[in-house]
Amino acid sequence: MKKPKLLIIVLFQNLRDVPPYYPRIPSPPLSGLLLAGMTPPEVKVEVLHEMVRPIEYDTDADYIAISFMDYLAPHAYEVAARFRALGKTVVGGGKFASTHPEEVQPHFDAILVGEAQGVWPQMVRDMLAGTLKSRYDAGEMPSLENIPAPRYDLAEKQFAAPVVTEASRGCPHACTYCQLNIRRQPYRTRPIADVIRDLRSTGRLPWHKRKMAMVLDNNLGGNLAYTKALLREIARLKFWGIGFQFSIECLRDEEFVELLAKANCRMAFIGMESLNQASLAGVQKRQNKVEEYREAFEKLARRGILSFTGLMFALEEDTPEYYQTLPEQLARTGATVILPSISIPIYDTPWYQQVRAEGRICDNDLSHYEGDHLVFRHRHLSPGEIFAAYRRVNRIFYSWKNIFKRWFRFVGKQSRRESRSEYLLKLFILTFIYFKLSIFQRHHAQARVFPELASQRSDSMEYRTDMFHPVG
Ligand code: SF4
Repeated sequence: MKKPKLLIIVLFQNLRDVPPYYPRIPSPPLSGLLLAGMTPPEVKVEVLHEMVRPIEYDTDADYIAISFMDYLAPHAYEVAARFRALGKTVVGGGKFASTHPEEVQPHFDAILVGEAQGVWPQMVRDMLAGTLKSRYDAGEMPSLENIPAPRYDLAEKQFAAPVVTEASRGCPHACTYCQLNIRRQPYRTRPIADVIRDLRSTGRLPWHKRKMAMVLDNNLGGNLAYTKALLREIARLKFWGIGFQFSIECLRDEEFVELLAKANCRMAFIGMESLNQASLAGVQKRQNKVEEYREAFEKLARRGILSFTGLMFALEEDTPEYYQTLPEQLARTGATVILPSISIPIYDTPWYQQVRAEGRICDNDLSHYEGDHLVFRHRHLSPGEIFAAYRRVNRIFYSWKNIFKRWFRFVGKQSRRESRSEYLLKLFILTFIYFKLSIFQRHHAQARVFPELASQRSDSMEYRTDMFHPVG
């Protein structure tokens, strides 16, 4: 008998009348592949990442599962409505559904609230049996043991490095803009054996796609004793290159940095966010010390690890003087790739509550809360000053001249500790990652952010005040 089919869609973009935008990044997000891994075998699964291909409404799938973040909620509701009109059963989940279930629930046949591992298999079986309930609540902190491996074989071929997993959930820090701090939960880690099993569950992939991986934690450095033990095990897997995400103060620990190198870490994503200490303090990001950045990035570079760092514009204490010197300051820190964004008071975070209480939210269209729009009134800067600084810093940082200059500096720091062939492979992998990320960020800054900026946004702009999302 033909198996029923489930299509898992991981949303990425608010299409509306904007042309689709497909980022050129090597790895998929974890949520869709992980959900596919947890799905019982009674159902056939397909995963669709909207970041690489459009949603297919004429699918032969019987059931649709939509995973989305907060700013994608309006889009998720539209997609769900279209599929429901076609007679499909549509379920939803993700961080926004977990923090705001009352709002999300009416748009779906059922929603999953919280972490999926404990409830998803039952939800699928109820779906198949026609006994689906409207809400499945995972409760507080379900076990992280024995979570099945993600289905890497279901990632689209556009992803050069489809092996992604996570070792922990949560973060010990209290940054007020962070979604994790809407409803704070303790930092938790998975059994090391489970993480290693994930990284080895690559048998159905082509050989070359098994050699690179990303560990997509919010903060892998929340428990360094655990992380060091994990890195020792990962080193045995002999990846060509692996990437991790952690907070910057971990780099004070020399042993941690050495173990990253031994695990063949080639890229570290770090939330630098600002070179303005007052702005960092304003969002309680106290673990970041600007005077430590240069040494931290230098430690990584000497060990053949690219630093890929977030950089937020429009943080509260930013000034025109700060933006004026920012390109030179960035060059001095030695950050190899930056991910620039406009800071967003994410709905319901402590920072959002503060900005809202001060009457400074100017745009209530939730689909604009993605880091490409300015949605609040800054204390010291006009929108024009913020956009001009964004464009200028990106133009300088991502000029071809500076991209190549940074690359030659980085390569110049590499000393050969390994065999000649391993050294050449290392340089090849680093070159691939560096140019892939740099070209993607350069393109994003030019093509995606503020597409309407030049013509519509100015100091005298009129903000949208339509309430897409019921605030407060
Ligand atoms: S360090 Fe990163 S993950 Fe942790 S609270 Fe701050 S922004 Fe969130």
